[in-house]
Amino acid sequence: MSDLRDLYQEVILDHSRKPRNFRVLQPGARCASGHNPLCGDRVSIFLDLQGGVIREVSFQGNGCAISTASASMMTEALKGKTLEEADRLFGLFHELVTAGGGKASPDPKATLGKLAVFEGVREFPVRVKCATLPWHTFRAAVEGRTSDPVRTE
Ligand code: ZN
Repeated sequence: MSDLRDLYQEVILDHSRKPRNFRVLQPGARCASGHNPLCGDRVSIFLDLQGGVIREVSFQGNGCAISTASASMMTEALKGKTLEEADRLFGLFHELVTAGGGKASPDPKATLGKLAVFEGVREFPVRVKCATLPWHTFRAAVEGRTSDPVRTE
């Protein structure tokens, strides 16, 4: 079990040190910014949406290892997905990091793939918002909200 834990930490550290898709998208892309005042994380999500499909998604920001790794892995997971698939992933991810209260999704981890490394976050409630900040900000970009405060669940 502790080996698995180390592996998860390795993946998160790797993404926080070398974030993927860490760039601004071309003018015209959707963008939203989010802030997690509890930790000080700030993230901006850029989104190129065409016909309901996520063509490109990237981020910029400044935050702790968890929020940076979460944003990095989220952009990798979302590229090429439809908005419907993205919403489903967000739901599963949210459930994973908040322990979900025993909801009956059949094995969310199978669908989440690499994102399952964030499972350990549920043991650290103050970190849950770090992990979900990029996802909430992604939703804001989809909905075209740009400066709303980040919702905090
Ligand atoms: Zn944080």
